Amino acid sequence: MEGSAIRLQDLRKSFGETTAVAGVDLEIRDGEFFSMLGPSGSGKTTVLRLIAGFETPSGGRVELAGQEVTGLAPFERDVHTVFQDYALFPHMTVEQNVAYALKVRKVPKAERLVRARKALAEVRLDGYGRRRPAQLSGGQRQRVALARALVGRPRVLLLDEPLGALDLKLREQMQVELKALQREVGITFVLVTHDQEEALTMSDRIAVFHQGRIEQVGTPAEIYERPASAFVASFVGTSNLLTGESAQRVVGTAGTYSIRPEKIRVLKESAVADEPEHATATGTVAEVVYLGDATRLLVDLDAGGRLTALQQNLETSAEDVAAYRGTRVRLQWHRRHTVRVPDDVR
Ligand code: ATP
Repeated sequence: MEGSAIRLQDLRKSFGETTAVAGVDLEIRDGEFFSMLGPSGSGKTTVLRLIAGFETPSGGRVELAGQEVTGLAPFERDVHTVFQDYALFPHMTVEQNVAYALKVRKVPKAERLVRARKALAEVRLDGYGRRRPAQLSGGQRQRVALARALVGRPRVLLLDEPLGALDLKLREQMQVELKALQREVGITFVLVTHDQEEALTMSDRIAVFHQGRIEQVGTPAEIYERPASAFVASFVGTSNLLTGESAQRVVGTAGTYSIRPEKIRVLKESAVADEPEHATATGTVAEVVYLGDATRLLVDLDAGGRLTALQQNLETSAEDVAAYRGTRVRLQWHRRHTVRVPDDVR
């Protein structure tokens, strides 16, 4: 049985009139890659800072490995935070940067060097020890920051948008590396991000934040396939909701429903929907977005409302795609992909 790395109980934080965190309960397990996902201002960074000890809660408690740490200073907690801006010392070499925390803890010099080199090897930076931060690329600097975090072997690594400053290609590469690194070292990683794709790619579990609260905690598949609220359905993935009159007419019952764009097939209007397990709706293509590998079609339904369908460009070219605009179509999807979204409680 895995233990609990972090436990938050009714955690709250206000800054004057602003409620940043409005009562968060959460348990993160030992060895998990856990992401806190949410839009700007939803409170995820504040929760991370409360775990690290950089902020004092207005209410509630923080436990690390079963011990209450709510009133303890950051250095008294077995966690390490990696920030987006790396915060490396410019006048020190890479090796000195990594070994610095050990020096502060009075680890003997020879051991410091061995451990710094091992940490640099873990982030695939062997041979870079003598350079200075200015002589490295953004991705390499981020790896130095990671090596510096790993060298002290904290129980928990807190990562605040660590890939935010990197360009898209490098970010995608680092996502894969970061996940592999976490598996290798077995340390609990807690990542703050507003990027849903990043959270879906890397995490064992995700907490979706909205207005200082958690709306849902689950595996990437649970969050994506079974969103617990309309907010989660629209924040994670493309918003594709049927509500009110259009839900009544297309689904047959009132409520809010989510259908993921990649589950919807676009057929000729005249196509006969004869399979009982298929749902279908006719409409007019309002917008076409060519994405290279796929095309996004925004369809205004005759029943009211709009659905987005994502089509792989198996045979179609950009020219074919442009001709879709204004045409009449029939959308079809398997009924099991019509997901009922609970009505928002707030
Ligand atoms: P982002 O992705 O933009 O960092 P976030 O989800 O991490 O957003 P927080 O940084 O936790 O959100 O902020 C939550 C709310 O608390 C915001 O309204 C923010 O303005 C406010 N806030 C955060 N820190 C402070 C502070 N030190 N003083 C005053 N208000 C703050």
